[in-house]
Amino acid sequence: QAKDAGRDQVAVFDAGLRQTAGERLELHTDLRAAVDRGGISVVYQPVLRLNAHADGDEVVGLEALARWHRPGFGDVPPTAFIPTAEDLGLIHQLGEQVLRTALRELAGWRRTTGRPLVAAVNMSALQLADARFVDMVARVLAEVGLPPSALELEITESVLMLDVDQSLRRLAELRGLGVSIAVDDFGTGYSSLAYLRDLPVDVLKIDRSFTAQLPGDRAMIGFIVELARAIGATTVVEGVETVEQLDLVRGIGCDQAQGFHLSRPLAAQDVAPYLERRVGAATPRPRTVG
Ligand code: C2E
Ligand code: MG
Ligand code: MG
Ligand code: MG
Repeated sequence: QAKDAGRDQVAVFDAGLRQTAGERLELHTDLRAAVDRGGISVVYQPVLRLNAHADGDEVVGLEALARWHRPGFGDVPPTAFIPTAEDLGLIHQLGEQVLRTALRELAGWRRTTGRPLVAAVNMSALQLADARFVDMVARVLAEVGLPPSALELEITESVLMLDVDQSLRRLAELRGLGVSIAVDDFGTGYSSLAYLRDLPVDVLKIDRSFTAQLPGDRAMIGFIVELARAIGATTVVEGVETVEQLDLVRGIGCDQAQGFHLSRPLAAQDVAPYLERRVGAATPRPRTVG
């Protein structure tokens, strides 16, 4: 009887496996098709520079976030399809598409606002490991006619730890172009302080798990802000969801913030109206001369 039960379990397990394999294959086919046809879109979350007072807060950048609307399945989150794109070797093509789209759209918003807005674009470890990556970034910047200072590339700590020497060299090359480097989800990895000292980095993005633990994690955020100053980097706090959190991080001295309280990620067509409202409000009225 035990044997029968065992056989049943095996049968169930096996059916489950077969189904999963089929689904995976379909997922792979669909993702490949989406990347090939340019079916990955980009949404943008505003990044604000914090001032002493909330009315002085100013939009300084937009983080590009990849989106995949998978026909028949709805919206697949990037945490689900980015790892798959990496597995399938599609991440280079996908990453280049996101970069090109973001920079092209940013160029338009910079023109209409007259502001030196920055696009923050996430990159995968595999992209950083690719010897052609730096040239690709330079080419896309030239193609859209933007200076390298318009681009900030975000990379996670864990990614940097994979091959420290190669990562450091590649980041130095990117920085040599004039592109800024941000460490994303900072505080969740295991990098040593000595390593951080050598890292060519301009921005530390404080992971939203710290923001979520405010006011408890006030000292932790304060420490990261001090650390950033010591290495000459600025800070961006992620995941600001409430006005209380915003006030606290402002008080701690964080340079910039991002989060649902400030703005959700916006579809491209909603960015211009948003900027018009925000930038319009922050722009002093032109003075009448004479
Ligand atoms: P990330 O780079 O840390 O991006 C921030 C994520 O937090 C985004 O999720 C954003 O929608 C979400 N978020 C923003 N504000 C808040 C908030 O106040 N509360 C909460 N709970 N969440 C907030 P999203 O768009 O789902 O992206 C998830 C991750 O996927 C990103 O984390 C990034 O690591 C990765 N990713 C997204 N787009 C790309 C891409 O084009 N290339 C690569 N390599 N990775 C990407
Ligand atoms: Mg990011
Ligand atoms: Mg992050
Ligand atoms: Mg994250």
